[in-house]
Amino acid sequence: MKSTIKKFIFSPFSENTYVISDETNEAVIIDPGCLSQTEKETLAAYISSKKLKPVALLQTHTHLDHVFGSAFVKRKYQIEMYMHEADLPVLSDVEMRCKTWGIPGFEPVEADKFLKEGDVFKFGDTQLDVIWVPGHAPGHIAFINHEDRYIIGGDCLFKGSIGRTDFPLCSHEDLMKSIKNKFFTLPEDYTLYAGHMDETTIGFEKKHNPFF
Ligand SMILES: [Zn+2]
Repeated sequence: MKSTIKKFIFSPFSENTYVISDETNEAVIIDPGCLSQTEKETLAAYISSKKLKPVALLQTHTHLDHVFGSAFVKRKYQIEMYMHEADLPVLSDVEMRCKTWGIPGFEPVEADKFLKEGDVFKFGDTQLDVIWVPGHAPGHIAFINHEDRYIIGGDCLFKGSIGRTDFPLCSHEDLMKSIKNKFFTLPEDYTLYAGHMDETTIGFEKKHNPFF
């Protein structure tokens, strides 16, 4: 396996933040959910201790728990934030939602570049294929590494569960289609790194996920 995948579990939402790097030491930070100062320092300490060079901030989607640390990461590493354009209404709602939830200290953030289905994001010696998997969020994307056989899947499919669709701009029907047509058509041994909870595989979920 070429990629080193480091997972952090951040904030009261227990959100999974991933740092992916390879032997070139270039890295991408995906869904930085670090909210407290301590969590931000934990992320930065890992990056400096491994001498990584973050080259991009990637968002599977932009619900509040996935963007708590995005402004911090952009500023600290002077990198651009990539997301799907269809998630812009979600992102623009985050500040308001933080107020509603009583979450202090959110720093608003803006996207720099957009990704869409079929795009290939390259860094170091690593290639991530982008798929568009709407449902849990309208501009939800996932990143597939075919060489190392894994998916950074965000909040679509979880170990034994699926993403919530009771938020604004969600669609249960779209989510089920995304999982069936985009996740379950991948090889069964592919590992899924989701936005919450533990890793799983496509094969395990096809067999055991109670929603299917
Ligand atoms: Zn979400």
